[in-house]
Amino acid sequence: MPAQVVVVGSLNVDLVIRSARIPRPGETILGGEFHTLPGGKGANQAVAAARLGARVSMVGRVGDDAFGQELLNNLSADGIDHTFVLRDGASATGGALIVVDDAGQNTIVVASGANMNLSPADVDAAAVVFATADALLLQLESPMETVIHAAALASAQGVPVILNPAPARPLPQELLTLVDVLVPNESETALLTGMPVGNQEEAIAASAALRLAGVGTVILTLGERGALLAGATVSRLLPAFDVDPVDTTAAGDAFLAGLAVALAEGKGLAEAVRWGNAAGALATTRLGAQTSLPARQAVEQLLAASPAPSQGDGS
Ligand code: ADP
Repeated sequence: MPAQVVVVGSLNVDLVIRSARIPRPGETILGGEFHTLPGGKGANQAVAAARLGARVSMVGRVGDDAFGQELLNNLSADGIDHTFVLRDGASATGGALIVVDDAGQNTIVVASGANMNLSPADVDAAAVVFATADALLLQLESPMETVIHAAALASAQGVPVILNPAPARPLPQELLTLVDVLVPNESETALLTGMPVGNQEEAIAASAALRLAGVGTVILTLGERGALLAGATVSRLLPAFDVDPVDTTAAGDAFLAGLAVALAEGKGLAEAVRWGNAAGALATTRLGAQTSLPARQAVEQLLAASPAPSQGDGS
């Protein structure tokens, strides 16, 4: 039986136009091709976890509109259970308007829409999937009270709670004490701690500050440098896999899914970070967000090709 991962989080439709340049205020210009792509950190991480072989249940809200239906179909295409993704009659599906220019710069406006109506009661309605879950994966594109409620429900049942604090905002103490594994990137860490994260010493100091605030384990993702694992008995840098990146979009989402699936399968923390590093690295080798999320076999091959460093067990 595959491990079961529950994701409580956002689903968005990304409307993307490539354009020679970003228009000035008041200006209309002709762009290139128009793409409609599934997104939202919650859905991205759910799809990533499903491709890595987990049984995934998603809890969220979309609007009662055509985009909402598309996003549900998209989850189905990866075999994700969306029984508890509600169709919200009051708000539109969450969306992002994205313009990307020839230099790769972008401007993005996000309308959270139905995502912001996700309630503690919606989480309670999905209690049945929490009862059998092996890990809970959370981000911050949902109301804070709902994130806290989901963490409390999982924690009460002994289900490990993994929080990706993105987009970063201050974390209430109540949430920090419910989180087993906090996984910020460099900019999120800087925002959460007010500390610089420019080198390894600074990263170690910042992760120690987050642990002092009440989190069991902190895993700081460091892009091409890999990830720093800081727990009660371990502090070590697990280096990134050596790949030729073409687009780092969704590297963080792939990392979170790799980590969550490995922990859900009972692997130790250091091995789970290696799974995250492998999934994140592979996601950088292809364009796009969900299109770039790797299959389990590719992650296993990359892991097998680069044996684990032997320093401590870290688990
Ligand atoms: P985010 O995308 O949230 O900013 P990071 O840039 O830290 O997060 O990337 C997440 C993870 O993806 C990293 O910890 C690493 O494992 C992997 N990764 C990112 N960029 C690269 C890269 N250039 N080469 C190899 N792995 C990478």
